[in-house]
Parts: sequence; C-alpha cells; structure tokens
Amino acid sequence: MLTSTNPHTLKEVYEVEEFSMAQVNKAIEKADECFKSWRKCTFSERSDLMMAAANELKQNKEEYAKDITLEMGKPISQAIAEVEKCAWVCEYYAQHAAEQLANKHIETDAQESYVNYEPIGAVLAIMPWNYPFWQVFRFAAPALMAGNVGLLKHASNVMKSAANIEKVFARAGFPEGCFTNLPISSGKIEPILKNKKVKAVTLTGSMPAGSAVASVAGSQIKKSVLELGGSNALVVFDDCNMEETVKTCVQARYQNTGQSCIAGKRLLLQKSIAEDFTKKFVDAVRKLKSGDPMDKDTYVGPMARVDLAEELEKQLEESVSQGAKILLGGNRKNAHFEPTVVGNVTPDMTIFKEETFGPLIGITVFETAEEAVRLVNQSDFGLGVSLFTENIQAAKQRIPQFDDGAVFVNELVKSDPRLPFGGTKISGYGRELSLDGIQEFVNKKTVYIK
Ligand code: NAP
Repeated sequence: MLTSTNPHTLKEVYEVEEFSMAQVNKAIEKADECFKSWRKCTFSERSDLMMAAANELKQNKEEYAKDITLEMGKPISQAIAEVEKCAWVCEYYAQHAAEQLANKHIETDAQESYVNYEPIGAVLAIMPWNYPFWQVFRFAAPALMAGNVGLLKHASNVMKSAANIEKVFARAGFPEGCFTNLPISSGKIEPILKNKKVKAVTLTGSMPAGSAVASVAGSQIKKSVLELGGSNALVVFDDCNMEETVKTCVQARYQNTGQSCIAGKRLLLQKSIAEDFTKKFVDAVRKLKSGDPMDKDTYVGPMARVDLAEELEKQLEESVSQGAKILLGGNRKNAHFEPTVVGNVTPDMTIFKEETFGPLIGITVFETAEEAVRLVNQSDFGLGVSLFTENIQAAKQRIPQFDDGAVFVNELVKSDPRLPFGGTKISGYGRELSLDGIQEFVNKKTVYIK
C-alpha cells in the first residue's frame, strides 16, 4: 500500500494499492498499443487535446491544488500557482510543437536532405514530490505533443496527485494509454526499464536515484534525462539594488518552503554590504508567515515529510558544530521547520557542500568578483546561479566563468516553458522545456535523397 500523510496534521490522507508487475506489464502493453495510433495523429489533433488539458487544469485548479497541499504541505496559494503554470506549459507546446518538430532542411550535395523528428514510443517519467504537478507536466506536455506516450512513476508520498494528473489527461479526451500513472514503489523500476516497449526515461529527483536509474537505462542502451539536485548561489554585489535584491533572495530561498532544486541555497554577499544586507534579509525573513498550508496567507508551510525536516535539522546542527552561527530560526516541530538564516558559513561546512532541501540559507562573505566565481563553482552541483548587480556589462562578461546550466541576473533562477532548463555536474544532464526539451525524446532521423 502506498500512503500519503498530511505533513501538517500527520494524518493519512490517501492510500492506493501498489500495482503488481502483471498490472504494470499490462499498462505498458496498452501504452504501446496507444502509441501506434497516437504517433499518426496530426499536430493539430494533439494540440486540441493539449489545449483541453490546459482548460481542465484552469477550471479545476482549486481542486487539484487542495490535494497537493493535503499530500505534501505546499501552501495553497503556491499550489494554485503551480497548477496554473502547468496549464501554461500545455498551451505553450500545443502552440509550438508543430513548428519545433517541423522537418529541418539542410543543404548538401543531395537533391534533398533534411532531419525528420519522429516519436520513439513509451517514455517513463520518475518524478519527485516537491512540485507534484509541474515536474510531471513539464515532461508530459512536450513528450505527448511529440507523439510519444507517457508512463508515470511518481514519488510514493504524492500518489493522489499522480492519479489526478492521469485524470486531467483522461478528462481532456486523450486516448487510453497515452498517459498512464503507475502506482508503484521504486523497486519495480528496473524491470520496467528492461522492458523493450519502454524506450527512454526521465528522472527528476536526487543524485542517488538518478545514478541508479541512469545505470540501468545505460545497461539497456536507453536514453535518460536527469534533473537532479542543486545548491544554487545567490551572489550579491555591492552595487545591487538592495531593496529589490532582498525581496528576490527571500523568494528564491523560501518559496515552496525551500524545497526546490533551483532555490538559492547559498547566499554570497560582497563584504562592504554584507552587514547591512544581512540585517535587511533577516528582517524580511522574520516577516514571512508560517503555519497552516491551507491558509491562503501562509508563505512557509510544513516540509513534505517529518524525516525530511529531521534531515535538515541534522545538516544545521552539523554546520553549527563546524562554526556556523544561527541568525534566525533553527527550530523544528514535526515537519514544521522555522525559516532559518545562518551566518559565518565557509565552504568546508555541511550546509555549503550539501544540498539543503528546506527553509534554511547559509551566508558566506566574499571580497572580489573572482572569489565569488570560485565559491559558486566550488559546489559539486551546477543547476544555476543568480547575480545581483547594476553593472550588467560586468555581469555579462562573467557569465562564461560559471559552470552552471543557467545564469540569471537580478532574478531568481526559475523555469519557463520558453527557455531550456537543466543542469551540469551532479545536477544532471539533458534539458527540459523549450525547443531543447521537446527534442530530447525524438528520433532525429536523417533523410538524404540523391
Ligand atoms: P528522490 O528521493 O530522488 O525521489 C525522486 C523519485 O525517484 C521518486 O519517484 C522516487 O520514488 C524515485 N526513486 C528514489 N530512489 C530511487 C531509486 N534508487 N531507483 C529508482 N527510483 C528511485 O527525490 P525527492 O526527495 O523526491 O526530491 C528531492 C530531490 O529532487 C532534490 O534533490 C531536488 O533537488 C531534486 N529535484 C530536482 C529538480 C530539477 O529539475 N533538477 C526539480 C525538483 C527536485 P519513491 O518516492 O518511491 O522513493
């Protein structure tokens, strides 16, 4: 049995019987059957269905958001915004897939030569609980528009949201087998990846999960895309717009109760403004409203599970024993973790080296831009970095020096259907969203006509 426990009340809110391997295999058969006809549909037919999915999401956003909040504690206003963003990615690919996958003509000595973008079949998506809808839709919208079919293995603690996502596609009119939720634990992934009818896998989650899944996929010569953890730096230079930067940095770290791969987890402050900025930042964090996630005004809710909050507490305790200083917060009650700010952080400390997946930020002071670049790149992760400065020219010159998959200037790192999204180093490989995302799971067939 897979169960979801409301992290605010600690009461069980949903349970579902796990699929047996026989049920899984039947679902894969059905998906493969569906693929045979789905791949022949025109972009316009697929687009109509994807627009219907967007409408379904918009019309019933409160219903879907409520289940997200009950299952993993996301503050309800942020859960509603998440569902709305899913509608956006559906609309985006409904409108752009045809042009993104149109034949690409290339001049050669042939009479005609071009690249034909063709679907590959069933793609398995292994997804995390932190954005239970968004992570899935940013995979599903491009994959289905490309003519593939999707199989979902969602995180075990958000199986109601997983069932709801299948419902969205069914209500929109997608054929049976086009998008299938598999209520399973991770033990069943290996045989699924070894099934010949499953052609590729995408995983959003932690590094150990990514490594395990990609190893099996590699052994089967199947493509994988990995969107893994991050420890993004927020680099604040002394010429930044202080008020705006404080606001953006608070949002970058504390939205979604700090449980985002792209959250700003390391706050790097230039020495001359460090004291002033820290004071303003701590004041702003102190004002964040924490509490019941069903309350529309709550900004910081409980973390998704008690064990995750315990893990964060351990990272904090370790860092304090290494010399870090708590400037605000630091206390935990069950899954509720106070918004916390920690100073005196150095690169050898746990909260600098590891990903902290909750409402906790560490502050490190630097003197020169060169030092800031070194500190940013010192992380094993490489998802993204934010630079805050009024000197855009200088920022642009520094962009090639960062190892990350994204550099945002005067903005928090965020995903946008129009822009590619993905990391480097142990943050993973491959890209989601935009043209790059839809071209990950297609056969780029070379055609040459003499
Ligand atoms: P997780 O424990 O890695 O779980 C992610 C998914 O992988 C779940 O469906 C999980 O299933 C499955 N899984 C876990 N271990 C597995 C294994 N050995 N083999 C196969 N599947 C396995 O991660 P999480 O705690 O849910 O999510 C937090 C992590 O995701 C953080 O590191 C965060 O940074 C990362 N993340 C990255 C992005 C990005 O775009 N880069 C976005 C969001 C989150 P079960 O639940 O059944 O274990």
